[in-house]
Amino acid sequence: MPSPDRSNRRPVYAALPVLLLCQLWAPGCGSGEEPVVRESVAMNTYVTVSVYDPPLSPAETAARIDSALAEIRRVEALASDYSDSSEIGRVNRAAGSAGVRVSPEILDLVRLSLRYAALSGNAFNIAVGPLVKEWDFLAEHPRIPDARTIDSLLVLVDLSAVDIRGDTLTLRRKGMALDLGGIAKGYAVDRALASLRRGGIRRAIVDIGGNLGIAWDDAAMLEGGAAGISVRDPRNDGTMFGSFPAGNAGVSTSGDYQRCFITDGKRFHHVLDPATGYPAAGVVSVTIVAPDAVTADILSTLVFVLGKERGLAFIGRLQGVEGLVIREEGDSLVGDATAGLRRVFERGEPRD
Ligand code: AMP
Ligand code: MG
Repeated sequence: MPSPDRSNRRPVYAALPVLLLCQLWAPGCGSGEEPVVRESVAMNTYVTVSVYDPPLSPAETAARIDSALAEIRRVEALASDYSDSSEIGRVNRAAGSAGVRVSPEILDLVRLSLRYAALSGNAFNIAVGPLVKEWDFLAEHPRIPDARTIDSLLVLVDLSAVDIRGDTLTLRRKGMALDLGGIAKGYAVDRALASLRRGGIRRAIVDIGGNLGIAWDDAAMLEGGAAGISVRDPRNDGTMFGSFPAGNAGVSTSGDYQRCFITDGKRFHHVLDPATGYPAAGVVSVTIVAPDAVTADILSTLVFVLGKERGLAFIGRLQGVEGLVIREEGDSLVGDATAGLRRVFERGEPRD
């Protein structure tokens, strides 16, 4: 079993409203029917599959949702870095001694990660594994690691020591570890949504811990009247910072309020700056809208590390990607969004 989020010790569904990063409403649903919603736990977080306008019988819809959840668990079994038996777990255990044959999906995820690392000056860096383990944000009482320990681990955050030959993945340095925590949930969302689509479902939302995939008929990425996505106020749980409509899209939020602790009034959170070994500073949350969920997942982490200026410039150079960066200014929160998102974004609570 992966080590669960600390909050998993509370009853799962009672904790849900606290944990959801984005909440959903469906102004465009139109049918007057309630969605079929299934909640579950996977990949160390909460999973919600919502099917709107189910074209099938309740039993058929339930079977489609079962298959989507099975896809998520399949990806988890490949990509989890908490498990020694997952493919990534085996690659990490063999670091410095041997390569491990892995599935094409893992190779694709690693290649995609390396591509975004190269584009971002290694701001997105899946070799952060040793740092993530040292910070151990899921521990009962996480604490700030010793500065010397962080320095000694930084040399292991070395993507040049990641080798792909054929179907074999090798980490050349002992102590290295890959961590797909910034990409795997988005990928699992895409797989789950593809499974629902194959099953004939045309309107659905899959949410794995704030990584959303939306299927909405033929609606464009930010089409008005499609699914409604709310962005949580990162400093006021239960309050919305704003909302926007999304059609077929991936939406991901990375925030400093997830997996974090506060010591002496200072917040430490799980998005690490691979250059320093410490949590990335400067912004509070980043929401990305992209054509698919894996891209949104990568980019929310990457833009968080780059910060507002460089992060927004980065996504400005990509096709079909929009984003919102929220930061603190004194006691208030300020949001900066790309032009496409600004056009449809509404500040405050969503209107019914
Ligand atoms: P996300 O919630 O998608 O922003 O991903 C954060 C997770 O990705 C962390 O919990 C780590 O497992 C991993 N991670 C942390 N920092 C980075 C980074 N700079 N690049 C890639 N993955 C990271
Ligand atoms: Mg991410």
